[in-house]
Amino acid sequence: MMYEKSEALYKRAKTLMPGGVNSPVRAFKSVDMTPVFIDRAKGSRTYDVDGNSYIDYVLSFGPLILGHSDDRVVNALTAVAQKGTSFGAPTELENELAELVIERVPSVEMIRMVSSGTEATLAALRLARGFTGRNKILKFEGCYHGHSDSLLIKAGSGVATLGLPDSPGVPEGTAANTITVPYNDEESLTEAFDKFGDDIAAVIMEPVAGNMGVVPPREGYLQFVRDITEKSGTLLIFDEVMTGFRVGYNCAQGHYGITPDLTCLGKVIGGGLPVGAYGGRRDIMEYIAPVGDIYQAGTLSGNPLAMTAGLETLRQLTPESYDHFNKLGDMLEVGLKDIFAKKGQPITVNRAGSMIGFFLTEGPVVDFDSANTSDLELFKHLYQELLKEGVYLPPSQFEGMFLSTSHTEADIQKTVDAFEKALERAVQ
Ligand code: PLP
Repeated sequence: MMYEKSEALYKRAKTLMPGGVNSPVRAFKSVDMTPVFIDRAKGSRTYDVDGNSYIDYVLSFGPLILGHSDDRVVNALTAVAQKGTSFGAPTELENELAELVIERVPSVEMIRMVSSGTEATLAALRLARGFTGRNKILKFEGCYHGHSDSLLIKAGSGVATLGLPDSPGVPEGTAANTITVPYNDEESLTEAFDKFGDDIAAVIMEPVAGNMGVVPPREGYLQFVRDITEKSGTLLIFDEVMTGFRVGYNCAQGHYGITPDLTCLGKVIGGGLPVGAYGGRRDIMEYIAPVGDIYQAGTLSGNPLAMTAGLETLRQLTPESYDHFNKLGDMLEVGLKDIFAKKGQPITVNRAGSMIGFFLTEGPVVDFDSANTSDLELFKHLYQELLKEGVYLPPSQFEGMFLSTSHTEADIQKTVDAFEKALERAVQ
């Protein structure tokens, strides 16, 4: 496999952008490689500038649940672009996407569109603080909620990949108002509430953690969090930026039957264009300007292109889409476990709908500490060999793999075969 053009482009990019990229994990640092520069993509396949093709499990880190360049999305975008790309004024498309999300997401009675997941969580926290009059927030170790100051604390994703404990530049005062506890651990959460309960405005959580690899909640854990927050007058925020429409037709909250007070969305609801949203109980959402006095705004919020890509994406998802994801997920899990068993290598596979995470450890992986027992050196070698076999995974142990409706059983079979060859070389 040749990466000549990617290498030349990367060399130039490094002189232009920090690390040559516009988002850190893309730099392939933890897998010690030059990132491949992508030329185009269709369905489950991406093609790089050197002409190599890959079965893609990155899918732009989650948004492309229909696969790349879906015809209906592209055609609708082309038609809408002809009419104008942004007006800074309301459009009917915003009503349509809002209605669809409200219909599908149990907790959402009212919604506000923004342009990224980071903006959604930032705004939801301000709203929670304004609504409750409290200062502190509680998050879980290894959960990533975007890069705003108060949430960049014990975060997973790129922060975990780069081994940054916290980011320099986050003021101490801000960090002091963020409490962190291990995920899936009822005792630590109880202790935190005993100590700070009266001042915790919100608990923010990924209902299935997806930024320390994929780590689903233990049986009953989400109910436990719901109960403890309700009892202390703390708002529960589900950050479904990643899990939204990936874990189930009605998001993770529908799948597990737990309704938070507020929900953050992004990724899938933008169908590959920059979108985020936060929504929830009407009485809380009405604290937002211009009805209430908690301020939040955005020049490109709800722009027609993003609304269109989101609408055309959500309209094509059906309950059967999730049967498809589960079938492919089963196939991949069985295939991987079989290969690793034959080689005498440990593997743990965690899954939730169209999200799949594998860890190179005996497991179980239930939190950030257990995720960190994965063999990162082996992951790196395996990653490099998989790329040569035409399988494109997120370039980090701490990111999950994503499926789309375009992925087929044949893709999974090829992937399993590729893993077999790659593992053989990686453990040598
Ligand atoms: N929340 C979660 C759960 C995420 O996974 C991410 C991004 O990966 C974000 C928030 C931040 O979203 P964005 O990158 O669109 O700002």
